[in-house]
Amino acid sequence: MASRRSGLPVAIIGAGLAGLAAGLRLRELGVEFEIFESSDAPGGRVRSDQVGEYICDRGFQLVNLGYPDLTRFYQPTDFHRASKAIDVVINSKVYRLGDPRENFSNLISSLNPATGAPLEKIRFLNFLRGLKSRPNSLNEMDEDQSFEEAMIALGIGTLYSRVVRPFAQGVFLDRCDQVSEEMAYKLIDFFINGSPGLPIGGVSTLSKSLAKDLPINFKSQVDEIGEGFLRIGKRKRKAARIILATDSLAAKILLSDAQVERSLDSKTFDSMTMSTSTTWYHALDDAGFDATLRIDGLGTGPVTNSIAISKLAPEYAPPGKTLISSTVIGSVSENTSESSVRRHLASIWGVETEEWELIAKYVIKKSLPHHPPGKAMKSFLSLGNQLLLVGDHVAFPSQQGALGSGVSAAEEIARTI
Ligand SMILES: Cc1cc2nc3c(=O)[nH]c(=O)nc-3n(C[C@H](O)[C@H](O)[C@H](O)COP(=O)(O)OP(=O)(O)OC[C@H]3O[C@@H](n4cnc5c(N)ncnc54)[C@H](O)[C@@H]3O)c2cc1C
Repeated sequence: MASRRSGLPVAIIGAGLAGLAAGLRLRELGVEFEIFESSDAPGGRVRSDQVGEYICDRGFQLVNLGYPDLTRFYQPTDFHRASKAIDVVINSKVYRLGDPRENFSNLISSLNPATGAPLEKIRFLNFLRGLKSRPNSLNEMDEDQSFEEAMIALGIGTLYSRVVRPFAQGVFLDRCDQVSEEMAYKLIDFFINGSPGLPIGGVSTLSKSLAKDLPINFKSQVDEIGEGFLRIGKRKRKAARIILATDSLAAKILLSDAQVERSLDSKTFDSMTMSTSTTWYHALDDAGFDATLRIDGLGTGPVTNSIAISKLAPEYAPPGKTLISSTVIGSVSENTSESSVRRHLASIWGVETEEWELIAKYVIKKSLPHHPPGKAMKSFLSLGNQLLLVGDHVAFPSQQGALGSGVSAAEEIARTI
């Protein structure tokens, strides 16, 4: 888009969900702004590619229509709703666990002790029921412990190790003993009480829909921010207010340059790190799989979860083919060989996988911000008078964290500009 020489009331850096939500809310509030995005399209971590005849999201992720700051801007008429059941594979047997209110047959294998003793399941169900009424301790995290410590204290040994931990690691893209209990409860609550699924055509349908008609300068990497200005290559733009809506690692670089890190407490600044994950896409001739997410209850290989994604969203694969999306987390992911992934997938799906065609592999070095125990969940951070820091790393690692953060910063600017 054509850039103007004059100063901007507001510059937003980053067209991920946080930056897009900030822009959408500023537009509603009548505040002028421009977005500067280093890549060639909107969405940040919420993007998809057409790979031959397949649609591959850049990392397996579901969009949750239960997120309040998503539905304020996005109400699709058509959407692939995902089941909340999960299939747990233990010694080649598949146990389906899920909400019996959704599908009564879930209850039958839910009671099987291979996935945890009945008493453990009752304890866990009671815990889930109590999530809604937990006090909102967004800013008081002194007593926060790791999700793993909290689950051990709940007394759900087998259920935790075979179901909750393998499933939750795929949500946090991090080890459960490294993740804040309070943050984990928030994500689990959204999943249980939300409406997860996929937009028609891939997750980038969401990003494109949010970005439609917003003033975004693509291929505009911001290299420096300072008092009342930002620099894109050799070009300097004046801006009365700046919303820094990049991922945490990019923000850390820009903040160092702007010498404003002293405005952040050391715990927040130090925890601006991110996890790595890898998503593999394989195709096979149409298989009788369904769209339920699979996890390995015994953790016998590198794969954290796997789903026949084209069974949830048929347009992801051409007719006669099934597309499997499988995620591996942790720093080993880059070194994990395809053969070990294939071997593990063979045991997860109970079929030979040698003939599966590798369609794509995404190593996502900046997957989710780490959220250790004690890290607060803020809406946004004010760094001086002009700079507001937003994103999932400021709030909590999810689309809602990013969107809500952008909305709150926009409202703060409209109040004070
Ligand atoms: C594999 C994976 C699975 C996930 N699964 C889920 C899920 O199931 N449910 C869920 O709720 N969330 C999920 N998430 C998390 C969710 O996608 C993110 O929390 C959210 O998209 C973060 O948005 P953001 O705007 O804060 O950051 P980003 O999406 O990282 O956006 C930042 C933007 O800033 C741009 N940028 C960076 N540096 C600069 C610069 N110097 N100048 C200009 N632009 C710059 C980037 O290009 C990017 O577009 C998942 C994420 C991943 C990676």
